[in-house]
Amino acid sequence: MLYNELGKTHLKVSRLGFGAMRLPVKNSNADIDSTKASEILDYGIENGVNFIDTAYSYHSNTLGDCGNSEKFLGEYFSNNSLRDEVILQTKSPCWLVEEKSDFDKYLDGQLKKLKTDYIDVYLLHSLTVPEWEKVKNLEVLDFLDDCLSSGKVKHVGFSSHIEVDYLIEILDEYPKWEVVLTQMNYLDEYYQSGVMGLDYLKQVNVGSMIMEPLRGGRLVQNIPEEIEKLWNMSEVKRTPVEWALQYLWNRDDVDCVLSGMSSLDQVKENIKIASTKDIISDNDQELIREVARTYRTYLGNSCSRCGYCMPCPHGVDIINCLTEYNIAHMMGNPKASAMQYFSLIDDDARADSCINCRECIPFCTQMLDIPEELEKVHEYFGSEFDHF
Ligand code: SF4
Ligand code: SF4
Repeated sequence: MLYNELGKTHLKVSRLGFGAMRLPVKNSNADIDSTKASEILDYGIENGVNFIDTAYSYHSNTLGDCGNSEKFLGEYFSNNSLRDEVILQTKSPCWLVEEKSDFDKYLDGQLKKLKTDYIDVYLLHSLTVPEWEKVKNLEVLDFLDDCLSSGKVKHVGFSSHIEVDYLIEILDEYPKWEVVLTQMNYLDEYYQSGVMGLDYLKQVNVGSMIMEPLRGGRLVQNIPEEIEKLWNMSEVKRTPVEWALQYLWNRDDVDCVLSGMSSLDQVKENIKIASTKDIISDNDQELIREVARTYRTYLGNSCSRCGYCMPCPHGVDIINCLTEYNIAHMMGNPKASAMQYFSLIDDDARADSCINCRECIPFCTQMLDIPEELEKVHEYFGSEFDHF
């Protein structure tokens, strides 16, 4: 495993961080398969991963509500002696905070669930501009000062999908930020805060953590033929996962890449890549840009499959509806995707079940107007009878 210094925290972090938001599950997202999840965590930690990322809401069955990821991790660490070996990051559910005392209420609950006295890195989760204004009015900065001085939290930061101007504004308002989690992959250099945000983080020596390194799997699954041909032009043969991860680790403004891993094979593959120093040549950097340009011509929508909009209170399988639409666009084969769409997604979970209540919109990390996108999906696939 290779390690980086996480900005001014001076923590030595594995450049691959274990995101505990897509752990193996049994019957539902909240029903974590603790045997399998423990097995993949054990393997990750034994093989050098020392950064574990979770959040209040990960592995929940209800939109934005309390999940079971922290509870699982608390139990996991109470069954071994690894807690002090790892750097544990979790996040405050800012969207649920209504009064100042709520910050402490959530933090204390999280410490209890995680069965620990301290959190290494505590982030304000998924800050939007209005939410930042809300939490500032609720004196969040005093709360963060208190967390640091009490020792409940060692380092503070925030995660966000905002534009670079706002990112800089928030960073400049509080000198104690030490870590920021933003979205980045080779398709998103100029999306949200993108490369300019990373550049600023480096300038102010704030640790940079990356989410969506594989763009919700889009960069590694169902690779269009044209993209495969482009990759094959390189003298160095890399898998799509290697291209995506090594692209990030070749940047000197990226400290740690978080990957939500669900299987042992995935953990092994990612660790192998994270342990290999692979310097990407200028020609291959240009090839990556060409691949990104080509991908952009295929996009149906920019859903990253993060799952923050799920579950829809009306049962719509938002992620898979948007994904099948994207695959259809990428593969240029609507009929094959329509077969998937109609066979994989139950009829009451398809796009036409959306009642436009708009409850999911504030949760979308890609700022999609989800019901509008679902209408496009429905128009595109039509009804079953159009295809079979
Ligand atoms: S707008 Fe549609 S997809 Fe979103 S929560 Fe409402 S019914 Fe579900
Ligand atoms: S629609 Fe938005 S919130 Fe839902 S999975 Fe896609 S990107 Fe994430």
